[in-house]
Amino acid sequence: MIMTEEALDVIVVGSCMTDLVSQAPRLPKAGETIHGHKFFIGFGGKGANQCIQAARLGAKTAMVGKDFFGDNYIQNFKDNGVHTDFVGQSSGSATGAASIIVNSAGENAIVIVAGANMLLGSEELQKALPAISHAKVLVCQLEISPQTSLQALRLAQKNGVKTIFNPAPAIPDLDPDFYRVSDVFCCNESEAELLVGSPVANVEEANQAGQELLKRGCGSVIITLGSQGCVVVKTQESISKHVPPTPVMAVDTTGAGDSFIGALAFYMAHYPTMILEEMAHRANQVAGRSVQAAGTQTSYPFRDDLSAELF
Ligand code: ATP
Repeated sequence: MIMTEEALDVIVVGSCMTDLVSQAPRLPKAGETIHGHKFFIGFGGKGANQCIQAARLGAKTAMVGKDFFGDNYIQNFKDNGVHTDFVGQSSGSATGAASIIVNSAGENAIVIVAGANMLLGSEELQKALPAISHAKVLVCQLEISPQTSLQALRLAQKNGVKTIFNPAPAIPDLDPDFYRVSDVFCCNESEAELLVGSPVANVEEANQAGQELLKRGCGSVIITLGSQGCVVVKTQESISKHVPPTPVMAVDTTGAGDSFIGALAFYMAHYPTMILEEMAHRANQVAGRSVQAAGTQTSYPFRDDLSAELF
């Protein structure tokens, strides 16, 4: 089925990666080899993760991406109800891969090699334009070429589609236009730190960083703070709001940020008049659920796993 006229809730222009996950008692130091106790391969990539979390909550979603002969990945999208007309397959570059190590505290260290994701460009965006222009929310990150992300965000803005930009992994010299095309600029502590050039390790510092990012031209800013939830900074109000999560026992926080953003995209599409703090509160609950199980997408809740109050 070619989707052109059909209105989508959420369209994600972003990455598909193969996750190679090792669980070990601790993260190795440089030059060190340690024994781990479990290894598994999973579907990942920030773009795909966010898209799949939104779909699992009930959003009508499509992915615009590129993978290396990615039949398995395309099936994974289909299994999660994501439209795949715009997921291209390429033999011109290796599959995107993320090598992930998770320690016993649930913390991780990750190296990504973007591979085929970098081949996503204008041609694919033009093909997806009818779907992009009919979507309610478009989401982008930085695991594909930044120019492609920026172009997608501009196309969305031009067509009145709400945008969420997740500047991850962070790059120091981010094109200032990214701020202007973001209705919601959503990053984690370390990304905020790199972008503002000062420490972001607690709620107060996140408030300050959020104010600074807001001045650069985005509609609103959300900085996620792991077990402390997030802060929300909006143009209408000079004060940032801390939105704490419900405390949970974290097993593996890998992909929690993507679960949060996928949930946020779902809420923005389904409840356009809901205030951003309430969306952030609900996204905290969804992401808080994801940290209680191992893996990235494997840990993402479906609508039926969650309290009816979240819908
Ligand atoms: P990742 O890069 O692993 O995807 P991230 O650093 O981008 O994660 P975080 O800020 O760690 O994202 O977490 C995103 C959201 O997940 C938080 O705002 C919170 O809602 C939830 N979360 C993460 N860790 C915990 C935790 N230990 N307890 C409860 N909620 C958590």
